[in-house]
Amino acid sequence: MDLWLREGQIEDAAMTYKIKETLVTKKTKYQELAIVDTYALGRMLVLDGIVQTTVKDEYVYHEMITHIPLFTHPNPQKVLIVGGGDGGTVREVLKHETVEKVVLCEIDEQVVYECKKYLPEISCELNNPKCEVFIGDGIKYVHQHRNEFDVIIVDSTDPFGAAEGLFGGSFYKEIYNCLTEDGIFIAQTETPFYLPEVVKQVYKDAKGIFPITRLFMAGIPTYPSGFWSFTIGSKKYDPKEVDLSSTSNINTKYYTKELHKACFVLPKFVEDLTR
Ligand code: SAM
Repeated sequence: MDLWLREGQIEDAAMTYKIKETLVTKKTKYQELAIVDTYALGRMLVLDGIVQTTVKDEYVYHEMITHIPLFTHPNPQKVLIVGGGDGGTVREVLKHETVEKVVLCEIDEQVVYECKKYLPEISCELNNPKCEVFIGDGIKYVHQHRNEFDVIIVDSTDPFGAAEGLFGGSFYKEIYNCLTEDGIFIAQTETPFYLPEVVKQVYKDAKGIFPITRLFMAGIPTYPSGFWSFTIGSKKYDPKEVDLSSTSNINTKYYTKELHKACFVLPKFVEDLTR
């Protein structure tokens, strides 16, 4: 049968994927969850009709949201991930030998459960003894922890529903307090092509709190427009200026030391959003 998943990316545009097999669909306490196998991109996690991650292109997002901040910090030992229940960011964080502990704070235990079952390539490190999976609201978790993490990664869904409070100045202030004195924060911050006002606001909010704020881009085929932004807030180290000559070599498919520097060179219309 000819089955297709249609992801409405904005009001007037959508992407479609031909389905090979539907592995699970369920309504959780927080969202509608599906994991499907597609011809073009392999298995994918879909939440509330929005594609979160796919086996074929997940490495771009997970490597860039992880290695840019972890290679900027000279000695990241304790890392917090807010969201990220698929486990891809945990997998990348644990490639860094300095990391002693990574806490994954995911609100929806069903995401973790189903990804462990159906997306083993992505969730493979969730049972690593260095990883603590905490099921709960990231907003509350960050509020309850002070001066604790060297790096905080906000690997969230889009700014609606449970993730709405993970964007904006008041949350970034809490993140600032949850970081150690030389800590770094990073968040996925949507597409400047379709949502320039979100990118602009997030950057402005982060800039109001962190001494160093940077925005970078990566090409992610399954995210709307394929052109995705990440925003960094740092207390001390500048990800753009960091000396990478002696950082360790890890196995990656997208991230390189050259790309670490190059990704901060922005197209004019994106650069304008940071002014
Ligand atoms: N890479 C993805 C993207 O940008 O599409 C994000 C992937 S990850 C699956 C996002 C996770 O954030 C979801 O599993 C969702 O349940 C979780 N999440 C949303 N709001 C949250 C909150 N307030 N606290 C913790 N996790 C949250």
